[in-house]
Amino acid sequence: MKKPLSIYVHVPFCARKCLYCDFPSAPGTPEEIAAYFRTLQQEIRSFEALGSLHGVPTVFFGGGTPSLVDPKYIRQVLDLLRSLYPFDGDAEISLEANPGTLTKEKLDAYREMGINRLSLGLQSVHEDELKILGRIHSYDEFLKSYELAREAGFDNINVDLMSALPRQTMEKWKKTLGTVADLEPEHISAYSLIIEEGTPFAGTWGTREGRIFLPSEETDREMYRWTKTFLEERGYRRYEISNYAKPGRECRHNLTYWTGGEYVGFGQSAASYVDGRRFQNPAGREEYPKYARTAYANFRKTRPLSLKEREEEYMFLGLRTARGVSRAEFRERFGESFPGTYEKKLLDYCRQGFMEKENDRIRLTDRGIDVSNVIMADFLQD
Ligand code: SF4
Repeated sequence: MKKPLSIYVHVPFCARKCLYCDFPSAPGTPEEIAAYFRTLQQEIRSFEALGSLHGVPTVFFGGGTPSLVDPKYIRQVLDLLRSLYPFDGDAEISLEANPGTLTKEKLDAYREMGINRLSLGLQSVHEDELKILGRIHSYDEFLKSYELAREAGFDNINVDLMSALPRQTMEKWKKTLGTVADLEPEHISAYSLIIEEGTPFAGTWGTREGRIFLPSEETDREMYRWTKTFLEERGYRRYEISNYAKPGRECRHNLTYWTGGEYVGFGQSAASYVDGRRFQNPAGREEYPKYARTAYANFRKTRPLSLKEREEEYMFLGLRTARGVSRAEFRERFGESFPGTYEKKLLDYCRQGFMEKENDRIRLTDRGIDVSNVIMADFLQD
């Protein structure tokens, strides 16, 4: 039987850089975009050998802003992938899109080429917050894109939101979340803002003077807790720390990452996990084309993760999800029981109320999620 292999394709172009963003993305000229897609196809072809061993349950075009480029490039990549890898009949094919870059023609083209899930970056419904973030669109433009996507037949839409923004109050966050929930997208991602070093944002809001305008940690946690309660009332279930979905609408591609499934990433900075090997393409626009020519050979040379590293990852990633981790699953995957150190840690965290147990599964409680970074790192330190 063919093993499942999810595919990620990175499109590193954006109309303009958002002020908080440290992703590998930047504006590109038409020539740069054309050259990038030529290299991408070379890289995909070099991995052809994987196609005979694997079937594809999910494909994800992320960025950057995949909806910025001419849809013909997305089609060429999809056609090539389909010719090399057998896609499952019900494959989930997602594309990230930003309001202000979508048109009816693009959306029709996406539908026609088999894209069946859209992820729309909104972040906030407030114009002042969109401006602070340096987003290229208004809320009205988002709404227009959302409606166009529904009209084009997209029945699986995610909306990305961001809390803990400068000057954001609880009331403003409630308004953002309530307005979006009223639209009833199938999926909502709600992340707290992280101020990344080296971004313009860090220069303004990451300074001592700037931080005064950020919501306190307590307000941030309050926003998080309210998000979960409110979205549950609206029929969404939190299935990962920052991701909420209507029943059956969890992002299958992201679940691949969080449950230790295999995936290959194509493009600048894309990460892969294939045959027990983890590797990442270079993030630089100049380095990537040089690397892409030998990407498959580099992959073959990568050292597979040790058993211990794979076990740590299982714990680290599993605890991000609402399913949590399980002894039976661990045994099935690694042929041994939880090591004694894990047993002790899990027991301690359960006793302290940071984790809870349901039958064989152990997961973080709401209290545990508040300090999830510390807890998850604890399983990487044995
Ligand atoms: S649209 Fe996304 S990837 Fe592009 S600059 Fe903004 S946050 Fe970064």
